[in-house]
Amino acid sequence: MPASTALVWFRRDLRLADHPALQTALARHERVVPVYIADLGAERDWAPGAASRWWLHHSLSRLGGDLAERGAPLLIRRGDSLQALRALLAETGAEAVYWNRLYEPAIVARDRAIKAALREQGIAAHSHRAALWHEPWNLKTAGGEPYRVFTPFWRKLSAELPPLQVEPAPLHLKGAAVHLHSDTLESLQLLPKLNWDAGFYAQWRPGETGAQHALDRFVRSALGHYRGGRDFPFRPLTTQLSPHLHFGELSPQQVRAALLRRAQGTATLEADAGQVLRELGWREFAHHLLFHFPHTAEAPLQEKFAHLPWRTRADYAADLAAWQRGRTGIPIVDAGMRELWTSGWMHNRVRMIVASFLTKNLLIPWQEGARWFWDTLLDADLANNTLGWQWTAGCGADAAPYFRIFNPLLQAQKFDPDASYIRRWLPELARLPAEAAHAPWLAKAGVLERGGVRLNEHYPEPIAALGASRQRALDAYAAIRAA
Ligand code: FAD
Repeated sequence: MPASTALVWFRRDLRLADHPALQTALARHERVVPVYIADLGAERDWAPGAASRWWLHHSLSRLGGDLAERGAPLLIRRGDSLQALRALLAETGAEAVYWNRLYEPAIVARDRAIKAALREQGIAAHSHRAALWHEPWNLKTAGGEPYRVFTPFWRKLSAELPPLQVEPAPLHLKGAAVHLHSDTLESLQLLPKLNWDAGFYAQWRPGETGAQHALDRFVRSALGHYRGGRDFPFRPLTTQLSPHLHFGELSPQQVRAALLRRAQGTATLEADAGQVLRELGWREFAHHLLFHFPHTAEAPLQEKFAHLPWRTRADYAADLAAWQRGRTGIPIVDAGMRELWTSGWMHNRVRMIVASFLTKNLLIPWQEGARWFWDTLLDADLANNTLGWQWTAGCGADAAPYFRIFNPLLQAQKFDPDASYIRRWLPELARLPAEAAHAPWLAKAGVLERGGVRLNEHYPEPIAALGASRQRALDAYAAIRAA
């Protein structure tokens, strides 16, 4: 092997197993220098939000430990990525840089420019596919267009999944031959200044080992309940892998391998595994859409929806604040928003309910909801979040039709029938029977009294009447349809 050095530029691929950039660098060079560059400005308006920064801090800390144990400590540098890479190339004498690709529009543009600049300077710059099963530019309809409908996209993708091969983490690494300066993790100031993250520690374990444990736990004990249980938020029977996947502590290929290993030969488990893979297919679809339609993080894919007569900010500011704080008076919505604030995560069914309530019943632009999620979700992901919001608002690809407006009361009765989820997150309603906890504004005064609830004192009345607000949304959507 030639005695040469390469930089491995870690970004949102904070793992050592199934890491094509690291593996290729190791195969071609004697020394590898792992680096993380805190260049958050490069993500422009979509620099990580507060919850994501918490995760990033802990994930980097774990990665640093894992790399140091193997002999090549992680270097942290702050500032412009190209400048930081150039400085490190000069300090180490490295002749190549390896990284795994990301797909957000601002990052795609930055990485292209960096690759061109490095190559011009005679440095080998290699990028690899690691976060997706397929590059977004490789999957096209028969007419050569990007997909806009999920089912044909998934049919094509699932027929062309890459071979099931997962490389283990390397056991030993040979790092830089010279001493190099590293900024400290603390200097990145990723942790919140307010003491708001206590609930995160109780529920999450960022880093590759935590991701593996979460995957193992799901595959061992929850896989068989996935199809039947995935819509019920009280005891989540979904994988809860979304932050691990977002930060690349786990690849979709590793999830696929673990699912298929466990399910092999058992028809019902195979069907459950197939359903999880389909959800990962939505993740791929979201990245496909954002890559091909980069404006959609800010604007609707279906352009006519840009003219929807949303309420004005002055008119909706108080309602938006009530939604953010979980004080709308609709318990299933408030329970979801408080779960989000406390744990940094929210169940998918409830994400759809709160998003529908914001965009349809409150007629507040979906971008406001997407921004709040961006700041408070540990799994905030530009592709998945954009898809989720545009799907719910009815203005995206393969979206719920505009007239489909979730009735939060019926949703609560169906998916949280004994109100356990509501009671868990709204302790002020914990002593009410299920029927009253679903809809306190409809409960008899005596029932509320026995449960210790006085409306507007302990818990608000709804900020929007469900029937009238639904009709207002239908009228608004019908107007743009007619136009
Ligand atoms: P599982 O059901 O176990 O699914 C496995 C994996 O598949 C998930 O971890 C995720 O990576 C992917 N996945 C599942 N559902 C979807 C979906 N609908 N779209 C795209 N990928 C999916 N997901 C995010 O990762 N980040 C976001 O910022 C995000 N914002 C959302 C906003 C709204 C309004 C809505 C309705 C959905 C959003 N989702 C987002 C999608 C989905 O709610 C989460 O991925 C899911 O709840 C994560 O829980 P899980 O890991 O247990 O999912």
